[in-house]
Amino acid sequence: MDYEQARDRLVADLVERADLSEQTADAMRAVPRHEFVPESRRSDAYEDRPLPIGNGQTISAPHMVGVMLDLLAPDPGDRILEIGTGCGYHAAVTAEVVGPEEVFSVEYYDDLAARARETLDRLGYGEISVRAGDGRDGWADHAPYDAAYLTCAGESFPPALVEQVRPGGVVLGPIDDGRQRLVRGVVGEDGLRDREGHGYVRFVPLQ
Ligand code: SAH
Repeated sequence: MDYEQARDRLVADLVERADLSEQTADAMRAVPRHEFVPESRRSDAYEDRPLPIGNGQTISAPHMVGVMLDLLAPDPGDRILEIGTGCGYHAAVTAEVVGPEEVFSVEYYDDLAARARETLDRLGYGEISVRAGDGRDGWADHAPYDAAYLTCAGESFPPALVEQVRPGGVVLGPIDDGRQRLVRGVVGEDGLRDREGHGYVRFVPLQ
């Protein structure tokens, strides 16, 4: 199977269907998604759907990663906090825009964090920082961030996350108040402002 050709086809399709920005499309074209999924799933890596990655967790569907990167719309050099490293794919796509040294990612499960670390090292994303722990605490050592996003759904944005993003920065993720919605907010002087919903989604729960 020609992975590069399959990836180009998928990204072209997403640009058309999800109206992805050129910046996001370029980032997605650069990252070999098949290297992040279990070997037995490689042939499905360029289908637009989530795939299992172990520990009952899933890598998000490509369109969701693209839509989230568009909503985050980081500039090169922005510092980004990710909660839910999973297999590391989404972090690598983000790193294509901001630079790997500006991506900080927290994963709840030690073994997923260790595996993501290995994959990222092997593929040249060794400068992405990964820590195993509870993402509800964010990662204070490297704050303030220009933006933060969650790849798992909580009832609200964890307060530590909002505190660690600079005023004017973006917080993004699935929020579950009965039904999951992708929510984007801007950090103001006194918590989040300009909260907007961006459709109904399905993510694994925040532990
Ligand atoms: N971005 C990932 C998607 C992973 S799915 C990728 O590209 O593969 C969501 C991830 O969030 C899972 O790996 C899950 O273990 C993790 N997670 C769930 N609760 C968490 C928490 N409290 N802190 C950090 N990570 C968490």
